[in-house]
Amino acid sequence: MSSEDEFVHKDHKSREAYLPYSKQWISEEDIQAVVDVLRGDYLTTGPYIEKFEQSIAKYVDAKYAVAFSSGTAALHGACFAAGIMDGDEVITTPMTFAASANCVLYQGGTPVFVDIDKDTYNIDAKKIPKSITDRTKAIIPVDFTGQPADLDEILEIAKANDLIVIEDAAHALGATYKGRKVGSLSDMTMFSFHPVKQITTGEGGIITTNNRVFYEKLLQFRSHGITRDKSKVQDSHGPWYYEMQFLGYNYRMTDIQAALGISQLTKNERFLKWRKKYAAMYNEAFSRMDMLDTPFQNRMIESSWHLYVIRLNLSKLCGSRKEIFEALQNENIGVNVHYIPVHLQPYYSELGYKRGICPNAENLYESIISLPLFPAMTERDAEDVITAVKKVMLNYSNK
Ligand SMILES: *Cc1c(COP(=O)(O)O)cnc(C)c1O
Repeated sequence: MSSEDEFVHKDHKSREAYLPYSKQWISEEDIQAVVDVLRGDYLTTGPYIEKFEQSIAKYVDAKYAVAFSSGTAALHGACFAAGIMDGDEVITTPMTFAASANCVLYQGGTPVFVDIDKDTYNIDAKKIPKSITDRTKAIIPVDFTGQPADLDEILEIAKANDLIVIEDAAHALGATYKGRKVGSLSDMTMFSFHPVKQITTGEGGIITTNNRVFYEKLLQFRSHGITRDKSKVQDSHGPWYYEMQFLGYNYRMTDIQAALGISQLTKNERFLKWRKKYAAMYNEAFSRMDMLDTPFQNRMIESSWHLYVIRLNLSKLCGSRKEIFEALQNENIGVNVHYIPVHLQPYYSELGYKRGICPNAENLYESIISLPLFPAMTERDAEDVITAVKKVMLNYSNK
């Protein structure tokens, strides 16, 4: 106990400056890459878009990639390409950001929430078959925190039931599943480049796929459903001719963003090393504390460690999650909660989704806190987080 006494001085904060839960890391090279585009001929849909798409496709070992203005727009595109329409059902997890389910609603479909596995917090593949009906078209698994979902099981269920798998890998750029990089395993895979994600383009997202039909639909959907491809148009009035063949959107990424993305991608392996290092420090520091659970890791995967989520063992604590969360904030530690289960959001309640349909996710939500984890933080920052967590846990210990 005496060695931990230093943690219980309530008036002494663990650190002076606020540490956010996540933050981008922009280098001088990144800035130069953006400046070069600004001095060039194209600001949008120039040479950098294709280069970025090819770089991402190569990195994840997929044939094709289509960049979008956001990860959400990319998911919308994937639902369109998968043919999701009015009345179709799509299975997903509630333990995610709203976008994973909203993309189904955009296409007039119905998200069906399947509960999570108690250990990995990913969708429980064993529970998926019971939720399949003759209207089910697709499954959207989410690689929560960067830990790939049970893709072999999910892909097998999809194959047996003629479903398309759209993997939401917003957290998982660089993660591997049974030795293979996430991004070429599902029919389509989405990555997000929001500033808190693995790499950033400000806003941005991408779909990777090995399927040429999906690839071409995604390209056209991103730009109003317009094509100039001579082999696809029905008519030709002259060299200016193009056709709008279905209702698409302006979901294009700019060349400015793509140049930033290319530069950022060259650093992702280094970013991953930092993330893994800090996650390992947390694991080591907290593994013997019975007041919380550290993240369970499936042995067949390597996580990209987008988030570090601790689960409070509330029976061993005399404070609530809210009190502990606020105590950590008072220590200048930028904590967060990922996520409020999507089906509990007021919009979804109004659509008729009820509390109780996914008890594992609902219970998990009551006891989780995300700790700061990002490559630009220092070892000292990680030590501050550890100090603060130990201090707060001791203060709230019910022993
Ligand atoms: C960030 C995120 C998205 C959406 O990506 P945006 O680029 O912000 O639109 C979708 N799903 C998950 C799980 C995310 O974390």
